[in-house]
Amino acid sequence: LANKTHRKSNTQIPIGSQQLGSEDLVIFGGPCALESEEQGLASALMLRDLGLEIMRASAFKPRSSPYSFQGLGVDGLHILKRIRERTGVLVETEVMDVRDVETAAELVDVIRIGARNMQNFDLLKEAGLVQTPVILKRGMANTIREFLLATEYILQGNPNVILCERGIRSFETAYRNTLDVGAIAVLKQETHLPVIADPSHSAGNKTLVPALSLAAVAAGADGLLIEVHPDPSVALSDGDQSLYPHQFMNLMGDLRKDASYD
Ligand code: PEP
Ligand code: MN
Repeated sequence: LANKTHRKSNTQIPIGSQQLGSEDLVIFGGPCALESEEQGLASALMLRDLGLEIMRASAFKPRSSPYSFQGLGVDGLHILKRIRERTGVLVETEVMDVRDVETAAELVDVIRIGARNMQNFDLLKEAGLVQTPVILKRGMANTIREFLLATEYILQGNPNVILCERGIRSFETAYRNTLDVGAIAVLKQETHLPVIADPSHSAGNKTLVPALSLAAVAAGADGLLIEVHPDPSVALSDGDQSLYPHQFMNLMGDLRKDASYD
């Protein structure tokens, strides 16, 4: 179902006034985690000022340590909905549990299945039972073929799937994960589905985010998922890789310039 031979034209997914999978470059910016209603609202207003139409912010957090901030859970989904109502900014968030898919699909605009759950087949099937667009992130140790097979589970019932390359595990330790730029090009060749990249979880470090963003767009990415926090120094997760608002603003300017070259 994901293969280009299955469809004549590329799948396009409306995100506000933009079409993901067309010439539009769709940016999902926002904090790693939704930490409070105030932090989420401040983030949404900051993004709206920059012309963004959708905010990422995770209510459920898959943390390596059980002692780290685990997210606001279902309460967070309701907060995200209120933020959307108050600001007009659409919201995107991760789901980790089959029991939360239906609720999340009703309360937010785009749901995300994270790298750690790329082969959680029950979760994939559940995401196939709703029509809300789903960002499926590539597992950090999964091949492109496994990635595409995982999308097939969702595509059984939900055609609105967005693929996200977020970096894979390699021997390199200079950054958190290795952004597989080649995978973006391969996916654009193989599938009609929109392909986005997450330079933040690839880099693990805010200084590398602009370069990886531009590289992903050059390789054909239809959009980017980027962590930006009102104050990364106090972020409850992934502060090191989250951009300060002014850095994010500069990157948006660079991406617009890049887009106007063609
Ligand atoms: C995220 O985008 O919030 C996240 C946890 O990323 P990943 O699943 O790619 O590690
Ligand atoms: Mn994060």
